[in-house]
Amino acid sequence: MVERHSNDSGWIEVITGSMFSGKSEELIRRLRRAKIAKRKVQSFKPAIDLRFSEEHIVSHSEMRIESQLVRSAIEILEASATDTEVVGIDEGQFFDSDLVGVANQLAVQGKRVIIAGLDMDYLGRPFEPMPLLLAVAEDITKTRAICMQCGSPATYTQRLIASRERVVVGASDAYEARCRACFDPNLGQANES
Ligand code: ZN
Repeated sequence: MVERHSNDSGWIEVITGSMFSGKSEELIRRLRRAKIAKRKVQSFKPAIDLRFSEEHIVSHSEMRIESQLVRSAIEILEASATDTEVVGIDEGQFFDSDLVGVANQLAVQGKRVIIAGLDMDYLGRPFEPMPLLLAVAEDITKTRAICMQCGSPATYTQRLIASRERVVVGASDAYEARCRACFDPNLGQANES
């Protein structure tokens, strides 16, 4: 992982993978290390994600760090202070494609931008804007969970209840991590009727 660059420019790091793969945990770990290094850190999460805590990014393992709720990617740009050195963003998949331009602008301003988010939705489709962020990022970490069916490394998010919504927020018991072989997209699809 890139910890430091030799010039003043910023950069973009993306942490991506399925649910339960430790994305938020890794994001929080990096932000904590930046704070220990006396960097000025700000972190953000979308207002759609109110699980556990409104003022913190919280991992499934109960790690947490203070964060601000924002309703759009542009709000992150507006809320980022000039002297902020590190910007953390959780649940990147809930933002629109403006997040790509926002991340690039923050990096050009010299900030280290760390974004965590789901790489695929419950059907195994790339989850915008994460694929676009992977293209522009200097550093990418793919986190893997453990398949709840067979114990293999898991890269898919299996939805266990039928719904036509792309994301069922705040219902982590409606999902489990699965490997490619055990993943069944039909299970999470509402029947046509
Ligand atoms: Zn499996």
